[in-house]
Amino acid sequence: MKLQTAIEEIHLRHTFTISRESQDVVRVVTVELSDGELSGFGEASPSSFYGEDAEGVREDLQLLEALAADADPLHYRDVLEQAAELLGDRRGALCAFDTALFDLASRKLGAPLWRILGLNPERTPLSSFTIGIDTVERMVSKLREAAQYPILKVKLGTPRDIEIIRELRKETDAVFRVDANCGWTARETIEKSAELKALGVEFIEQPLPPEELDAMEEVCRKSSLPVIADENSILPGDIPQLAGRFHGINIKLVKCGGILPALRMVHLARTLGLRVMFGCMIETSILISAAAQLGPLADYLDLDGNVLISDDPYAGVENEAGRLSLSEGWVRRR
Ligand SMILES: [Mg+2]
Repeated sequence: MKLQTAIEEIHLRHTFTISRESQDVVRVVTVELSDGELSGFGEASPSSFYGEDAEGVREDLQLLEALAADADPLHYRDVLEQAAELLGDRRGALCAFDTALFDLASRKLGAPLWRILGLNPERTPLSSFTIGIDTVERMVSKLREAAQYPILKVKLGTPRDIEIIRELRKETDAVFRVDANCGWTARETIEKSAELKALGVEFIEQPLPPEELDAMEEVCRKSSLPVIADENSILPGDIPQLAGRFHGINIKLVKCGGILPALRMVHLARTLGLRVMFGCMIETSILISAAAQLGPLADYLDLDGNVLISDDPYAGVENEAGRLSLSEGWVRRR
């Protein structure tokens, strides 16, 4: 297989702010893996929070050129084990390679991945649409623009979190989920959870910084709402210690290194009685469509990275008011 890589710039419709950062432009790394007949597409949307950037991921991918040259895409498990060994903890590159390889293998087999995995597309939960942090007025106006979405994920971690949700609630009956991105304390989380529950919030994502995992035991016991791990849920090996500290995990392909580790995380989470969510970074339709293939395995989906951008270079799974259509089609360049 021939491995080609590119760094592509994608632009946010609105400046995207969470508790620790703001973004207008995101640089993603895309991969085209070709066997001379068919091509598979993969992507990494590297995050500085996890110590990666686009240039580094692109360099890491060069380590896989020789492996790709001789590999059979239909032996993708073997190939990915070898890739993981070569890359160590460089998971952005592994994710880009893994998603391209699964895409190529599924094209060779003539069926989309969800079908190969025996998944029922009707079990795909609705995806949420994310509202980033802004002034309360601007968050209300973003919510009005997103009126078609029945589930909204609201970024919090500000001094006016409850006011934000109260104002948004005046506008809609939509389900709210909130993501504090490590911006709260344990006491704050327990206190806010009751108020947020009364305001129709479904769950809280990652209230505390990841190093405060022990404090999550009390939060998990006393919170009025379920708590879902994101910054604490990176790799399969992270999952066992999350039982009893969270009610569920948010899996993102670029955090864990692609579809193969994501499947391991799903199975571990289910074994431990944890709920499963698939989330995303700001990314194109390549990575969103890859994650959507696993959608029927999830309780919750937050796969809106491609609809938050204005210039997606790719087209794949369609998002109609949060309903993701798993079709027989594959991702293509627009
Ligand atoms: Mg999150």
